[in-house]
Amino acid sequence: MSKKPTAPAGCPCGGPSLATCCGPYIDGSAIAPTAEALMRSRYTAYGQRNEPYLLATWHASTRPAEPIMSEEEKVQWLGLEVKSALRLRLRQRKADDADLTKDTVEFVARFKINGRAQRLHEISNFVREPAEGGDLRWFYVDGSFPE
Ligand SMILES: [Zn+2]
Repeated sequence: MSKKPTAPAGCPCGGPSLATCCGPYIDGSAIAPTAEALMRSRYTAYGQRNEPYLLATWHASTRPAEPIMSEEEKVQWLGLEVKSALRLRLRQRKADDADLTKDTVEFVARFKINGRAQRLHEISNFVREPAEGGDLRWFYVDGSFPE
């Protein structure tokens, strides 16, 4: 493991810059076109403690009623890795993307809670549905944890 922290110049999710990556989805000026894009923007929103965005992108059937983030827990998000095998699979079926109504994204997120390093390996389930205004949007439903 390198001791160098990842440079904060790019998007927190690993993209080139916030303005060309997750920023437009989080500020509402664009709609995340894929489940992976939505997942990345949610990871970035966690780092920004942007609870309204997290709730807005959470499917109504599984959206938590309690606050997502606690004031006592200081979470520091360190990095996101979207599993490449899944990316390959997604690329292969790109032709069908416009018709997709369900998708999964497997990722590993690293973070520290109160100074303790943690690793989250999750396979997230997403659905795509018409939202308010009629636009098709991706929503996070739930996840499973392979480890
Ligand atoms: Zn991003």
